[in-house]
Amino acid sequence: MTASVRARVSDLAARELDLLVIGGGITGAGVLRDAAMRGLKVALVERADFGAGTSSRSSRLIHGGLRYLEHRQWRLVFEALHERAILLRLAPHLVRSLAFVFPVYRGDRVPRWKLALGLALYRVLAAGGNVPRPRIFGKAGMLSLEPNLRVRGLTGGGLYHDAQCDDARLVIATIRSATRHGALALNYASVRGLVTEAGRLVGADVEDLAGEAGEGGRETAVIKASVIVNATGPWTDQVRRLEDPTASPLLRLTSGGHIVVRRSRLGHTRGITFTSPVDGRVMFVLPMGDFSYVGTTDRDFEGDPAEVRLTDADRQYLLRSVNGLFPHAHLSEEDVVSTWAGVRPLLAADPTAHPDAVSREHRIVRGPLGMVTVTGGKLTTFRRMAGEVVDQVFRHLGIEPRVAATETEPLVGGESAAWGSFLQGGVDLGIPAATIDHLVHHFGTEAAAIINLVRTDRQLMHRIHPDHPAMAAEVVHVVRREMAVRVADVLSRRLHLTTETADGGRAAARPVAELMGREAGWSADRVEQEALRFETGDAAAKNSLESPPP
Ligand code: FAD
Repeated sequence: MTASVRARVSDLAARELDLLVIGGGITGAGVLRDAAMRGLKVALVERADFGAGTSSRSSRLIHGGLRYLEHRQWRLVFEALHERAILLRLAPHLVRSLAFVFPVYRGDRVPRWKLALGLALYRVLAAGGNVPRPRIFGKAGMLSLEPNLRVRGLTGGGLYHDAQCDDARLVIATIRSATRHGALALNYASVRGLVTEAGRLVGADVEDLAGEAGEGGRETAVIKASVIVNATGPWTDQVRRLEDPTASPLLRLTSGGHIVVRRSRLGHTRGITFTSPVDGRVMFVLPMGDFSYVGTTDRDFEGDPAEVRLTDADRQYLLRSVNGLFPHAHLSEEDVVSTWAGVRPLLAADPTAHPDAVSREHRIVRGPLGMVTVTGGKLTTFRRMAGEVVDQVFRHLGIEPRVAATETEPLVGGESAAWGSFLQGGVDLGIPAATIDHLVHHFGTEAAAIINLVRTDRQLMHRIHPDHPAMAAEVVHVVRREMAVRVADVLSRRLHLTTETADGGRAAARPVAELMGREAGWSADRVEQEALRFETGDAAAKNSLESPPP
């Protein structure tokens, strides 16, 4: 058995922490990295797996948000475009430039002149931003770029560049970058309550959910820290009420979802931004290997964010919208390979605004006992938000803020985009080209470590699923280095078989459970139980990534 990198709750409790971060989505991960790089003693606890909340359910774009220009949110767009340029450098394996077309039809809410103006402004706000210049095309030009678009009513459109990312892996890479600077991070560790002394917040009561109840695995401990940051996304108000049961809500929650279909059914090569022929909302069709995902929906959400699902009405709306754009595809329910939905933690500034128009800006507030809450924002702006939060933490600690190279130090795996040399090693071992490609886009320079695993044990070159390029060595790697605890952690957030195979990754559940069991020393019963947990759970079902555990 190889020791896992996962710490225990008691390891965290044994430390004198400056800062404890609650929530392991992109917001908490960013705060952890920033604080660790600035020399604070910091730890993070996440109730489910890292990124299992909203941060693995986004549209996976690192973008300024062309549509926010319509709402005149210049500052948000400017800051997000600045962050896009930084993230393209920090994690070139996870954040990549993507060409988009934006077709325009007669009678569209956004006519061609307005699009041309918007793209020019987008370019100016990006100040270049290491992406090519946008271009405007007539009808023939648009069809030469994407011949399967609806022809009727097409007046032309634009070609521009934005960036696409792997949201869940961005969270994991950010957390691992923090742990390289001495931070501790624990998934499946839930904050049940806050601990005060003399009217001041001094820690959190945390339960370890990774072990099985009844086998002595459910350890609890009080983790003490000088400052606590609440970065729990859609759960923000729930956690604020642990400090102040009368706290009025900061958030307005809206749900958003996507459907995944085979790319060959649509026949597009670029990302496509379009206004829905159903209701004029701006939507996307985005390439993801052999698949395309279409999204999003945006409607007010009530209830438990862990229970969010794409509704039948949302699914029909997405199908009707994409069929309006690609009329030859005639997509039906049977074409939907998988779906996912998430809850946006938006600021409750204007309760009368349409969900689409609610600001994506963020807010940092301090509670009556001292807890710092950060909420709102976007995946794209996590690094900037984190910097502001940690500045406040320094203020509460009464120390002069230090600076750190968060803008230039690459995330784990992003140290170089010159992958050629070590990948040759993989080719020489006989690793297929599709798997090498998969390694690069998931692990960047860490692919070298995975290739080394294959060098020492050729059995690890086997695919874990007949229809997917991922190989066994990747499973070993994510258990040893990325704190994967459950089968879904591997198949959903780390390797994405849940959305990239027609059976939601089910065929891989057993081989993955066996490989994980070998690493973690599981009994045969436990292997069986973990495989079953995945096979019968939501992650493998067609409708969702699995929910965080209660
Ligand atoms: P989360 O990722 O939800 O993380 C909060 C974490 O806190 C969760 O993992 C949860 O388990 C944990 N937690 C809760 N309670 C506790 C507790 N008691 N103890 C311990 N942990 C706890 N942004 C972009 O920039 N680009 C996009 O393309 C984009 N598309 C989107 C599309 C959709 C459909 C949605 C819903 C959002 C999109 N966003 C996008 C926004 C972006 O995804 C979110 O702003 C971001 O992921 C929020 O991250 P977070 O860390 O604040 O929240």
